[in-house]
Amino acid sequence: MLTRRRTLCAGAAALGAATVAAAITPGAGKQAPPPAAGAPAARRPLKPSEYRLRPLTGYGPPRTTPGRTPVRTEPLLRVSGRGRTMVLTFDDGPDPRYTPHILDTLARYEVRAMFFVCGEMAAAHPDLLARMADEGHVVGNHTWSHPLLTELRRSRIRSEMERTSDIVEKAHGHRPEWFRAPYGAWNRAAFQLGAELGMEPLAWTVDTLDWTTPGTRTIVDRVEDGAAPGVVVLSHDAGGDRGQSVRALRRYLPALLDDGYHLTVPRRQYA
Ligand SMILES: [Zn+2]
Repeated sequence: MLTRRRTLCAGAAALGAATVAAAITPGAGKQAPPPAAGAPAARRPLKPSEYRLRPLTGYGPPRTTPGRTPVRTEPLLRVSGRGRTMVLTFDDGPDPRYTPHILDTLARYEVRAMFFVCGEMAAAHPDLLARMADEGHVVGNHTWSHPLLTELRRSRIRSEMERTSDIVEKAHGHRPEWFRAPYGAWNRAAFQLGAELGMEPLAWTVDTLDWTTPGTRTIVDRVEDGAAPGVVVLSHDAGGDRGQSVRALRRYLPALLDDGYHLTVPRRQYA
């Protein structure tokens, strides 16, 4: 099962890159536009029946529901933030052969990152999710078994996502607020179900293509060449031999910090 998943993972990462590259339009995802179902809706006069559905919180206009997640039609490709902010993301883990080394390097430089975990890996290694929580990292949902969602029925997509959110909550302490489709292959059901589960879709800006094991130097070059404010970097901490990914991080992370980049995790922009 794992072997099959790895094969799929490597093979279709190219598909993921192609899908996302196609989705990049000028400014797309750069500054997430405020979701339509936000504050303006609250200013709309409520029908009498709607008042009954809302708890009384005092005088003044009714408040918007915090934490409401909009249904998007494309994933976010970068993050907004002040200055030279970048986000490092690691997919498909956790894997006890590689993830601890990545966590060690992040800890050494006091940098927080995002881990898009697969539920089946998280279930096998809850200790690594607990460590991620202790060290302030954000854990996102990368489905249970890394399938190509566009080939699945809605009910199966839901269970892939829901089970993963459940296991992440158990092991990490928080339900994921971010979702990344395997191979970057989103569809409408994935956007809708992700929003229902309270998750924003996050893709990436720079793909290290580390799963092709191109050599540590090449991975380092791809990150350093792609570095820019708002960039989200995609790497992997599982799914094959990730020794190059581990070694590359030890080189590009201090280089990015020397260049004045602030490596952090994105903040959710609630409606
Ligand atoms: Zn993946």
